[in-house]
Amino acid sequence: MNLTELDFEGQRALIRVDFNVPLNDAREVTDDTRIRAALPTIQHVLDAGGSVVLMSHLGRPKGRDEQFSLRHIVPTLERLLGQPVKFAADCVEDTAFDVTQSLKPGDVALLENLRFHPEEKGGDEFFAGQLAENGDVYINDAFGTAHRAHASTAVIAKFFPEDKAFGHLLAREIDALEKVLAHPDKPLTAIIGGAKVSSKLGIIEHLIGRVDRLIVGGGMAYTFVQAQGGSIGTSLVETELHSQALDILKKAEATGTELLLPHDTLAADAFAADAKTQVVPTNAIPDDWMGLDIGPETTKRFVEAVLSSKTVLWNGPMGVFEMEAFAGGTNAVAAALARATADSGAFSLIGGGDSVAAINQAGLADQVSYVSTGGGAMLEYLEGKELPGIAAIRA
Ligand code: AMP
Repeated sequence: MNLTELDFEGQRALIRVDFNVPLNDAREVTDDTRIRAALPTIQHVLDAGGSVVLMSHLGRPKGRDEQFSLRHIVPTLERLLGQPVKFAADCVEDTAFDVTQSLKPGDVALLENLRFHPEEKGGDEFFAGQLAENGDVYINDAFGTAHRAHASTAVIAKFFPEDKAFGHLLAREIDALEKVLAHPDKPLTAIIGGAKVSSKLGIIEHLIGRVDRLIVGGGMAYTFVQAQGGSIGTSLVETELHSQALDILKKAEATGTELLLPHDTLAADAFAADAKTQVVPTNAIPDDWMGLDIGPETTKRFVEAVLSSKTVLWNGPMGVFEMEAFAGGTNAVAAALARATADSGAFSLIGGGDSVAAINQAGLADQVSYVSTGGGAMLEYLEGKELPGIAAIRA
């Protein structure tokens, strides 16, 4: 399962990478983070005397569509690798095999967008078998799609019963998540925020009983507060989840998980950057006002909880951090994670699109222990689900 245990001498490594990168109108790569993230695995194979065949999806094409061709990323890949890359205009059949079956040690090839074939998302076994003909060893290094049972992420693994492994990037993701879920240093605190309880229910339920403290912030907190009889004005709420929210509170108490909800709120008279604001108790928000950030007392309490933790997991902002006026709580939590990491050696893991954006906005991404790259995949991992892409390598 470990890259370092495989022999690549004279072998072609077929690597599922995540090159789903943003392109501008001129079809140039505008953010090469994901390509750079794949380099250590590619370099490992090349240094060990193998050749590399890269496969990925890009965007959501419906059939073949030049806009979504991986051809567009070849110049960036060549620049980052410092060597030429052979491009195959399809990922299967002779167009691909002509390229991948003549590779010499040290060569790198890139296959055309997997999603030009509907069989990729369909998890088609015949298609997976065809893809498999492009390599002698299979490596999955794409965490962002590990929760999908697609042909290239999961089904293909059965064609490599012995010769398959996680790439460096995926192995590091799993290590980081296991450090939180399986063997955390205690106390372990999870901070869950964002807009909706419904999208985080699975995580909250899996974390209760596992974490010492569960902090709930962001728009989702108001559903809990209203369920307990509080007045939340026009704040975001999912009234249909009242009973589930109350069940969560009960379960937390029964399992000895300390559940922290915001007790004060920065409320606004409109959903606008220049709205009038006031700090009010979260359970006494005036009619026509909405809670858009956690209040100062709550911020202090959440920061103290983070600073006294040895492991911290953070997913989801504490408020509408896209507007500066309501970014204070989120920024304070981001800073606390960085401080806990530096001052007390805490392990801090951040994941989910918006928390990653928030830590980047705060300029603190390099001061936490790990920033997860896979939004949906990370959420499912934290819900305790077995991800098909991971299970297929372990099988
Ligand atoms: P999610 O995708 O569920 O993690 O939610 C992220 C979004 O939640 C961000 O766009 C935030 O602006 C939004 N959000 C956080 N707190 C609030 C709030 N109190 N009211 C409305 N939206 C919020």
